Amino acid sequence: MEQPLYIYNTLSGKKESFQPLHPPKVGMYVCGPTVYGEPHLGHARSAITFDVLFRYLRYIGYDVRYVRNITDVGHLVNDADEGEDKIARKARLEQLEPMEVAQFYLNSYHSRMDDLNILRPSIEPQASGHIIEQIALAEEILAAGFAYVSDGSVYFDVEKYNQKHHYGILSGRNLEDMLGSTRKLDGQGDKRNQADFAIWKKAQPEHIMRWPSPWGEGFPGWHCECTAMGRKYLGSRFDIHGGGLDLLFPHHECEIAQAVAAQGSEMVSFWMHNNMITLNGQKMGKSLGNAISLEQFFKGEHQLLEKPYSPMSIRFFILQAHYRNPADFSNEALQASEKALARLTDAWENLLGLKPAEQSSIDISTLRGKCAEAMNDDLNTPVLIACLFDAARIINTLKDGDASLNEADMKELQDVYHTYFHNILGIKENNSTAANANAYAKAVDLLLSIRSQAKANKDWATSDRIRNELSAIGFEIKDTKDGVEWKLNRQ
Ligand code: ZN
Repeated sequence: MEQPLYIYNTLSGKKESFQPLHPPKVGMYVCGPTVYGEPHLGHARSAITFDVLFRYLRYIGYDVRYVRNITDVGHLVNDADEGEDKIARKARLEQLEPMEVAQFYLNSYHSRMDDLNILRPSIEPQASGHIIEQIALAEEILAAGFAYVSDGSVYFDVEKYNQKHHYGILSGRNLEDMLGSTRKLDGQGDKRNQADFAIWKKAQPEHIMRWPSPWGEGFPGWHCECTAMGRKYLGSRFDIHGGGLDLLFPHHECEIAQAVAAQGSEMVSFWMHNNMITLNGQKMGKSLGNAISLEQFFKGEHQLLEKPYSPMSIRFFILQAHYRNPADFSNEALQASEKALARLTDAWENLLGLKPAEQSSIDISTLRGKCAEAMNDDLNTPVLIACLFDAARIINTLKDGDASLNEADMKELQDVYHTYFHNILGIKENNSTAANANAYAKAVDLLLSIRSQAKANKDWATSDRIRNELSAIGFEIKDTKDGVEWKLNRQ
């Protein structure tokens, strides 16, 4: 690789050259959804961000093991280790088995992610399938002295951990301040300290999702699953851990603390976080009445939407912002994205129809390098999209006959455009237009060559029939001194 890939590491607060621990293998873990509701834009942004990273790492030659978990247990309604499990709550309200709820929304998540052309991860472990690993992690942390058992629950001892290590290393928070603001609160229950968090939680009699453990019947704490499953599938040290910025604290901070407490060292080299999505400048949420599911976006079924928006226009909109910047959705912004995407798609279709010349009159040799440079700069997709617009302008010039490319350059342009637009940005190639357009152009050329042959043989019946029937379909055929030109008049 000529240019190294730079990735912003939340842990160090700067862009660092990405060097995998065991090249060409890359281990990547991304926090997936808690499956208790329809997937929304927040799910789309995180999935698209890490899908582009996954695609790009593979393109530059790495062999990526991409683990994205499914949270189907342990994520409580209230982040302070209180309240019902989110899935169990939904199951109670809908009178379903909790696993029925989880499966229903997992299926829905998969369908919407497929719509968005997101590649499936290599492993998609579910928290409920890794209870044994989570109990083992809790036991390790207890043995190391950084946790305590209290009334059937196991809590992480944040204060004790912080004496030896740094709780707050990722989020930049300071334990003194955290304790200062939380100690005043009442009802810390069986925790020694409000900042402590549950690794294992005792199940109350009404709690339906429960498993036996050395501490009685209970269920794992939410932060526990990612540490346990990350270590199981990627080892005690792996390259990348990603997720939404909303997970940075407490979820990822707690993941670090658990790993360091259990094994004495950090588990992750690069921590990556995608920023959030707002809607008309507002945070999205059920209570604000602006939580629009992806399905509603695709169907246009929400009072805030002027029309349906295709999965590719949503994907493209998300990629027009750098993943570390916030992105604000509005009808206006989405319609602008739709138009921009249509320009790039048209350029690709035009490119497929271009014929090479003897010589190139323009230089396209720097295009590939510029696209790579954009991606190597912490996945700068807006800059990459600008490079593709430069390419689209070149394509228009070629189409208008104001410039030419020889066969090798034409192939290079096609390859760069296809690689970055379809394979890395992951814009689904519209096969019904691009590939079919190519095939039908060849079929029309074939008919016209049969017509030329018929004319040469003075077989006017055949030549007229081909011309008349093509015209009836809508083709305009023009005989020129060099041969024959045709185009399809769009209705
Ligand atoms: Zn997680």
